[in-house]
Amino acid sequence: MGVHFFYRGIVICVQVAILGAGPAGLEAAMELLRGGISPTVFEKKERVGSPVRCGEALLDLHSLFDGDPPGSMRRISELLVHIETVHHFPADNTGLWIMDKREWLESLVAEARSLGASIEMGRPVLLSDIRKEYDYVIDCSGCPSQSLKEYGVDYGPLGLAIQYRVSCDLDEKAGKLGFHYIPGEVGFRWIFPKSRKEANIGVGWAYDQPREKWDTLNQFALDQLGDFEVQRRISGYLAMQVPSRLSIENILLCGDAAGLANPYHGGGIHNAMLSGRIASRCLVEGSPGTYDPRLRKAVSGELKVANFARSILEGSYKHHEMMVSYLEKNVPLEKLFTHETYRRLLPYIGIWNIRSLIRKTPLPSI
Ligand SMILES: Cc1cc2nc3c(=O)[nH]c(=O)nc-3n(C[C@H](O)[C@H](O)[C@H](O)COP(=O)(O)OP(=O)(O)OC[C@H]3O[C@@H](n4cnc5c(N)ncnc54)[C@H](O)[C@@H]3O)c2cc1C
Repeated sequence: MGVHFFYRGIVICVQVAILGAGPAGLEAAMELLRGGISPTVFEKKERVGSPVRCGEALLDLHSLFDGDPPGSMRRISELLVHIETVHHFPADNTGLWIMDKREWLESLVAEARSLGASIEMGRPVLLSDIRKEYDYVIDCSGCPSQSLKEYGVDYGPLGLAIQYRVSCDLDEKAGKLGFHYIPGEVGFRWIFPKSRKEANIGVGWAYDQPREKWDTLNQFALDQLGDFEVQRRISGYLAMQVPSRLSIENILLCGDAAGLANPYHGGGIHNAMLSGRIASRCLVEGSPGTYDPRLRKAVSGELKVANFARSILEGSYKHHEMMVSYLEKNVPLEKLFTHETYRRLLPYIGIWNIRSLIRKTPLPSI
């Protein structure tokens, strides 16, 4: 449905379509609605978040939730990073959550519909088909995106993540998020407790994935949990490099379709939400051309730290351990992915003599 603007006495009707009802698409829809535009959202699945392809942890770096968080989100008390030793990041007063992603997305769908958005489920669409019918299209189709499939947008190598939802006895692991980094592996493993009896446990690889992926996850689950029962298994790709262009004619790219998953730990919900909001704000303000620089600016602090950390991870397990020890002692969790932290890390590049490592894996441009 279109919306009417009055601009210097002229009535302007703006029609916006959104591809995908994930975090990026639904946040984009909500922001358009707040600005007086009722979008049409096309979602190829019959039900949002089915299956939930996600560990469901959210580090709300951008303070996106005002007041109480939606649905059944629960605060996490501590983040544990396992390298050679275990590093503790207290998380009590930070925006670190474990969520029920499907419940959250369903509540957004209901709210967006009640405010006037048209959300068409079971409707896979092509960008090339709808971009002529609408003034603007926001591509929130995830990874691999429609922009990749239809326009060859380049995200660099895609990561892969596999995960089990398990029932198990978590004991002292409950309420804490665990990240594990393994020597020789450019990737991450995680245990995210949903309750004392349920967890998401997974493995992600930045690029080279072994043949025995599920055996790797099985072994990790056995080592960490002992007894467990798999309720469901899922896998999905991760786009962890922002492409050189964030719009193609009247199409704006958001979320994973904009390559916004964190290249160090793979989390992408926060940036999906942020980019959806920024894209819609630009359309509401009538300045779609500012989307690209505004988004890059908003995520640059995080991506600088994350790409730097990733280059250390790729270069040397020992230096990775040193870097995380430094962060553990000097930087609180909510400040980890900021320009300030990047500036603090810079002097150590010389001290750790890792320039050669960085050359081996040049930082992707952001
Ligand atoms: C195994 C795994 C675990 C993860 N764990 C975490 C985590 O714990 N925390 C975190 O922050 N991030 C995590 N991520 C990343 C996170 O899931 C994504 O970054 C985030 O969901 C991106 O949101 P999005 O809206 O851009 O895309 P998506 O959530 O992928 O949503 C895209 C939507 O578009 C729809 N769609 C696609 N093509 C079309 C089409 N042609 N027409 C209509 N609809 C279409 C899809 O069906 C989907 O509903 C994980 C990813 C994986 C694979």
